[in-house]
Amino acid sequence: MTLLPPASPFDIVIFGGTGDLALRKLLPAFFRQLQDNNIPKNSRIICASRAEMTTEQYRSDVSKALAKFYPASSHNENTLKSFLKLITYVVLDVVDSKNQGWQEFVNLFSKTSAEKTRIFYFSTAPALFAPISENLSLHKLITPASRAIMEKPIGRDRESANAINDAVGKYFPEDCIFRIDHYLGKESTQNILQFRFSNPLIDAIWCGKYIKNIEITASETVGLESRATYYDTSGAARDMIQNHLLQLLSLCTMERPKSLQGDDIRNEKIAVLKALHPLSPSEIKTNSIRGQYIEGTAEGQAAPAYATELGKKSQTETFAAIRSTIDLPRWKGTTFCLKTGKRMNEKRTDIKITFHNDVDLFPNAPKNKMMLDLQETNDITLQLNVRSIGFSQNHDGLRPLTLEGSYSPPAGVRTPSSYETLIMSAIHGDRSLFVHREEVDAAWKWIEPILNSWEVNVPALLYYPAGSSIPRFADSNDA
Ligand code: NAP
Repeated sequence: MTLLPPASPFDIVIFGGTGDLALRKLLPAFFRQLQDNNIPKNSRIICASRAEMTTEQYRSDVSKALAKFYPASSHNENTLKSFLKLITYVVLDVVDSKNQGWQEFVNLFSKTSAEKTRIFYFSTAPALFAPISENLSLHKLITPASRAIMEKPIGRDRESANAINDAVGKYFPEDCIFRIDHYLGKESTQNILQFRFSNPLIDAIWCGKYIKNIEITASETVGLESRATYYDTSGAARDMIQNHLLQLLSLCTMERPKSLQGDDIRNEKIAVLKALHPLSPSEIKTNSIRGQYIEGTAEGQAAPAYATELGKKSQTETFAAIRSTIDLPRWKGTTFCLKTGKRMNEKRTDIKITFHNDVDLFPNAPKNKMMLDLQETNDITLQLNVRSIGFSQNHDGLRPLTLEGSYSPPAGVRTPSSYETLIMSAIHGDRSLFVHREEVDAAWKWIEPILNSWEVNVPALLYYPAGSSIPRFADSNDA
């Protein structure tokens, strides 16, 4: 059982129903929520894409996908049957307003109350978000109880992101748009708010006076896998920093929200994203690193170069690090650093907080550090100094003390996947875990000059053997 509350009956339409995301993540998430009795009777899951097939054939594909991506689903035949019954498949080309599929939608919703929650999940390429919205409106399928869930990437620069947001915003008000950043659905990410604001001990030292550096790292050991075409047009910064890592940073550095309601949280995130110090051209040279992996060793095996996996030469970065500050009084004295890379020597996602050590009595004391592990173990580690044992003439002998704790769930409580949490939040109309368009815009505004500089190879692309450790800035021991 999870701790998610049950929802009222809803209809959800998944555009891109035959896609990887729908079959690998979204439908298994619904299935697990059904297992937990969180999907009320009279709810419907309507999946659409161009592939010609019947609902029965599609259900059979969903059943195979569940067996592959959530093998435990086959243990409960009755639940599986009930789940498949919720699903209807519609053959639809979303760009063609006269496509027969739209009429099928009109028929499917003709007897549905306009008050029933109606969710349109845009699980297609972003280029289709505008035609989907336009055609939903044309066919009068958008009710006041309708919501749109949008997948990333929202654009590849500020202009294209605004174009997508404007196009969807023409038909859906901002408070009915739920932009997914799946990092926000992770328990460990959500915990940042509780950790910061429910512990006065932490809250009191959460500022530039005490914190020297906030370093957020997401590294992987894998290479391109099956995402070559998308990844080469994106690169590490667009794929990870513009969205996931800036979202983590905004949760780490936002002011205390007035309440835990969605808009209060999002307003504080917007404020901090707007205050990111914009890097000047000379700062970009010294405060950003971009790299691409060449042949090396990953997970004990020979690993090919990025260009070999891609099948052509490319200037796309597979590692990126950006360092800057936040132009807010609270963060005077703190540097932040965002790092991400593929084919690194370790897989980790964590936040490392390094504290200042300018203490008169112990000028040589190792800096206090706090580590929030967001990857698997959900550990929080605190590195402190305590007195060295025995006689010390200056009384300044120190040794490290490491305090470690895990906030893994209590026995018997299942941690829902990110997509379970996000989908159920959208169904409940809770926007706190979704990204406001102003957050998207502020993130692009900050990163775009850096990406433009990288386009002209400043700083120069460095090459690292697959399996390398995460590069550091030359002038810093901490970040
Ligand atoms: P995908 O596997 O390429 O699936 C795309 C889906 O769109 C297919 O169902 C395709 O079906 C449908 N489609 C394409 N053109 C269509 C049209 N004209 N009318 C109706 N349906 C159409 O992509 P995906 O990996 O599922 O990703 C979907 C979205 O989620 C993308 O924006 C992606 O960036 C984002 N995303 C994916 C992941 C992931 O893990 N996969 C993670 C994060 C974000 P037909 O060809 O049969 O029409």
